Parts: sequence; C-alpha cells; structure tokens
Amino acid sequence: MDKQKLEYFRNLLLELRCQAIEDLKADRATALEGDDGVEDAGEMSELDLNRSTALTLGSRQSQLIEEIDEALGRIEDGTYGQCSRCGKPLDEERLKAVPTAKYDAECQAALEAAQGIETPSL
Ligand SMILES: [Zn+2]
Repeated sequence: MDKQKLEYFRNLLLELRCQAIEDLKADRATALEGDDGVEDAGEMSELDLNRSTALTLGSRQSQLIEEIDEALGRIEDGTYGQCSRCGKPLDEERLKAVPTAKYDAECQAALEAAQGIETPSL
C-alpha cells in the first residue's frame, strides 16, 4: 500500500478513534448518573438496566478503541492492509468500510466458523 493510501486510512482511524472516545465518555456519563435519590423499587430496576446497557456499550467502545490502536500499529510497522492470517492484501473497499479489518473476507469467514464451533451454544 502506498504512503498516500496509508495516510488516508490513518486519518480515517484517528477520526474513528476520536468518535469512539466521545461515545465512551457519553456512555460512562450515562452509566454513572442517577446514583442518588432513588427510592421506588421499580424505578431502581429500570435505572440498573439502563446502567448495565450503558456499561456494555462502553466495553464495546473500549474494544473498538483497542482495535483501532492495533490497526494504527499495523500502519506504523507496515503490515496494514494485509490479512493477519494468510498475508494476502485486503480489499480496499473492505478497508474503507471497516478500517480496523485484520483479515480478508475468506479468513474472517473461516475464523468465525471456527469460533462458532468452539463456542458452546446454550
Ligand atoms: Zn486471509
């Protein structure tokens, strides 16, 4: 991948990272608000539900930030845009849609299939 394209994806990732951090902050604020003054039990459980949803979203954002950082690391060490599994170049349209993509479509599907087998379904 040439420098210009790498720069393009780097900017894209930095933008995404900024947004993810903003979302994370907003989620944290939602998760932490309303700790006091709740007396009604019904209200309480609804509040708890909101809080746990917000925390789940928060951890998803944290994971996204981690993935973005990894992708930025791959730009630095020159492996960005290559499949981490088979080393084939990733489709640029795929990268534009998912700048944190680590695998090509083939390997992604294979990994997801393998995960499906490993994860016990309840
Ligand atoms: Zn691959």
